[in-house]
Amino acid sequence: MNDSNQTPYQPETIAIRTGHQRTEQDEHSIPIFTTSSYVFDNAEDASLRFTGKAPGNIYSRFTNPTVHAFEQRLAALEQGERCVAFASGMAAIMAVGISLLQAGDHIVCSRGVFGSTVLLLQNYLGKFGVATDFVPLSDLAAWEAAITPKTRLLFLETPSNPLTEIGDIQAIADIAHKHGCLLVVDNCFCTPILQKPLNLGADVVVHSATKYIDGHGRCVGGAVVANETIIEKSIYPYQRTCGASMSPFNAWVFLSGLETLALRMQAHSANALALATWLEQQPAVNKVYYPGLSSHPQHDIAKRQQTGFGGIVSFELAGGKEEAWRLIDATQMVSISANLGDVKTTITHPASTTHGRLTPEQRAAAGISDGLLRISVGLEHIDDIQQDLARGL
Ligand SMILES: *Cc1c(COP(=O)(O)O)cnc(C)c1O
Repeated sequence: MNDSNQTPYQPETIAIRTGHQRTEQDEHSIPIFTTSSYVFDNAEDASLRFTGKAPGNIYSRFTNPTVHAFEQRLAALEQGERCVAFASGMAAIMAVGISLLQAGDHIVCSRGVFGSTVLLLQNYLGKFGVATDFVPLSDLAAWEAAITPKTRLLFLETPSNPLTEIGDIQAIADIAHKHGCLLVVDNCFCTPILQKPLNLGADVVVHSATKYIDGHGRCVGGAVVANETIIEKSIYPYQRTCGASMSPFNAWVFLSGLETLALRMQAHSANALALATWLEQQPAVNKVYYPGLSSHPQHDIAKRQQTGFGGIVSFELAGGKEEAWRLIDATQMVSISANLGDVKTTITHPASTTHGRLTPEQRAAAGISDGLLRISVGLEHIDDIQQDLARGL
């Protein structure tokens, strides 16, 4: 298939067919181009490529055919114009901050974004004079009220982690654009299979490919998807110069991850809905957080903007930390791991791990109780997952 993302194909087909430019060797599977540099036809060709007047590879920090195939496939899935791959999800988020903002600018970010994202915004962008304010994801009035004349960027993650709060992307994009700001969405939890933020008005999508895109917990990677102008003027020049490039091997792993992403996201969602429904019936469970449940406060928004509810389920045990730890320690199959998006089910106790550095007051404000557990529901048989959790319930 060619470079165009304007294919008439469905996501399942795009994920398998887009991005591979077959070489003269007629290979059927995408090769891994392990080369740091490339050769030019002649002196003039070298000069033309360096000045950007002729297309072609120069150096693998800038471009690499395997990485490019991944970028084209992900851009097509997100229905975006261009994608730049990065060495990690955090490198992708850093690229957005550094390349689009300058000292004095202001960010409004939803609460409950990935912990490292909070640190990146506060400690590193903050150090260079970019301030961030945090607002509750689903509170539209709070988003609007937090915007100042210096605000350039709104950033959100939906569903939030670990409480699966849903942000209305279309409504928040409208607020951003009314004030001349860009909306950036971290689409890691849904992937383009379940949610396409660019179609809902977002300007930039960031990904941690480490999670569902790989799907098997093997490689670390990230990506930014946006329109031609944003990529060509800001993201790509930053990546080319600052160099947090994705390795060709990792791109090759992510390319095959994308091929099964639609099947996996549907299966993750089906297992998660079954598990959440079952958890709601357990007497030891106080509350279940899952956007697919009709008891979820933003269930209707999730139904409207997602085509599935994803694989993350959180729940609260009446017995607090002691009971939560007992449930974790009673499991025999489920992995005790803070990672997510794997075919293997993982369980974590946010209050003592991912959110352990917060003060008890901060945790309470964020809704992270001592009895809260988060499950990244994998693709094992649902009966086995339930049985394993039932041991400690
Ligand atoms: C893991 C994660 C990140 C960071 O990605 P890395 O690949 O670990 O750098 C960012 N956002 C979300 C939602 C994540 O889950």
